[in-house]
Amino acid sequence: MIIPLLPRLTDAELKEVTEIAAEFGVGIQTIHGAQRSIYALMGDETTQELINRIEGLPYIDRIDRVQVPYKLMARESSLAQHQITVGSRVLPGDFAVIAGHCTIDPNNRNFFLETAHAVKAAGADMLRGGVWKPRTSPHSFQGDAKSLDILLEAREVTGLPVNTEVMDFEQARICVDAGVDSLQIGARSALNYRLLQEVGRITKGTGTRVLLKRSMHMGPISEFILAGEYIVAQGNPNIMLCPRGTVPGMDGYRNHPDECITPLLKEKTWAPVIVDPSHSVGKAVYVPHAAIAAVAYGADGLVIETHCQPKRGVGDDPKQAITPDVLAQVIKEARGLHTRMKSMTKTLQAA
Ligand code: PEP
Ligand code: MN
Repeated sequence: MIIPLLPRLTDAELKEVTEIAAEFGVGIQTIHGAQRSIYALMGDETTQELINRIEGLPYIDRIDRVQVPYKLMARESSLAQHQITVGSRVLPGDFAVIAGHCTIDPNNRNFFLETAHAVKAAGADMLRGGVWKPRTSPHSFQGDAKSLDILLEAREVTGLPVNTEVMDFEQARICVDAGVDSLQIGARSALNYRLLQEVGRITKGTGTRVLLKRSMHMGPISEFILAGEYIVAQGNPNIMLCPRGTVPGMDGYRNHPDECITPLLKEKTWAPVIVDPSHSVGKAVYVPHAAIAAVAYGADGLVIETHCQPKRGVGDDPKQAITPDVLAQVIKEARGLHTRMKSMTKTLQAA
């Protein structure tokens, strides 16, 4: 990872570095962080001669070599200073809540608008609403592109930034063009490396956040972090990692809750961890408990399915959406606990 002396290279400097790297068959990817840009050498192994040549340039401070397979996502990466905003919250550091419907019902615009106002009043920082949905059965409601207008209207009237899932390149393109604030890559798509790359590529430099769910089939932690690496390696560092439960599910729960991987993720990578307790336990009455557990594990935020009238919702909402009143209580407890956890972590680090 090339660290320039000044916050970023000039075009001429970047051209020179790119040409040197090309002599060794290595590409350069620019990643614009909040404070400075870094330049990743895109090759599995880079020779010492290449490192020496680039490090010898007068406008280069140094080259950091990262030993783990996720060069950009690693805690030792120069991107570790990168921060991501969710509404007025800055992560890591603050605590952010994303809430709203699993699925927007295109025939019930008012429900979504009512929920949007209510989650804002409850203290949420970002609004979620599924426009297109990955459904287990092809006969189930698959979402509707018309719902994107409803999502954007809700953003307009509440001022909350919005998050929605994209399952293919076309949906991602539509969302980026529409200025959707955060693209969700769902658990089913988290292993679709081509989609991860495409999303990374088209969101580069746009400021768009990407909420990457953990695939329910992912095992080693590195598999999840490397999925994030696909996006960051295309130039978008605004990534949030989202544990959401794995299979086989724990008896009685929808999935096997995995909020416990949060401290491990936070040790290995700088990316904020936003836990999804809704899909993890899969039943509204368990969700507040799983949500608070995630905060105790050190999560930077939560994404929670919330509906003003869950039983009249579509998709997962009738089963697992909590109401805005419950959300308000969860947020209050979560924020208090997050603050206490931060000071506990500081004390432990100092010990
Ligand atoms: C969702 O958030 O509604 C969803 C489908 O999530 P996941 O991809 O985690 O199943
Ligand atoms: Mn859902």
